[in-house]
Amino acid sequence: MDKNFILFGPPGAGKGTQAKMISKRFEVLHLSTGDMIREAKDDPIFAPYLTSGQLVPDQIIVDMVVKRLQREDCKNGFLLDGFPRTLFQAEQLDKFLNKLNKKITEVFCIEVSEEDVIKRLSDRRVCPVCGGSFNLVLKPPKQVGVCDFCNAVLVKRKDDTPETVKERLDVYNKQTKILIEYYMKIGNIVKVDGTLAPEKVFAKIENFVNNNIK
Ligand SMILES: [Zn+2]
Repeated sequence: MDKNFILFGPPGAGKGTQAKMISKRFEVLHLSTGDMIREAKDDPIFAPYLTSGQLVPDQIIVDMVVKRLQREDCKNGFLLDGFPRTLFQAEQLDKFLNKLNKKITEVFCIEVSEEDVIKRLSDRRVCPVCGGSFNLVLKPPKQVGVCDFCNAVLVKRKDDTPETVKERLDVYNKQTKILIEYYMKIGNIVKVDGTLAPEKVFAKIENFVNNNIK
């Protein structure tokens, strides 16, 4: 069966780490729409939204993802991260996959409590040069305050304060609730306890795939 996955998870749930592991283990392309949009900053379609800070309309995002999914490297499957964000996007994605006789095989939803998210994000340090991400408690850098990969000085992201984290969580919960209901009806959603160590979270996902997707 195709491995066409979606990954949901609030900020601070360790989604990036899981995405890397899933994509490597199952040889599926990790498609982060956030990265795609950032990379498209010079694209005349995206540039006006990015410079004005306006939300990119659903249809433009859908077109971008659908176009990307048709490339050769998505043949084995894919892992969508940051998409779909709205019901419209989810429905359009299904319409597109239907035409190809495909479907979303599984939606993994990493669940973490609000308290844990706030704690994790206040302990998070990122590298402004290479994008490396660390956690003072869970994943400390080898040398205090310094990036393992490029030796740059680590910083705390401005939006990793309890107040902004709460706001980001509210947005996430509002957005995802409706999507979770949508995939619940289809019956392909798997909830994973994200408070476990990253390897354990991944082991759950891996077991699920091995046992259910042949
Ligand atoms: Zn770095």
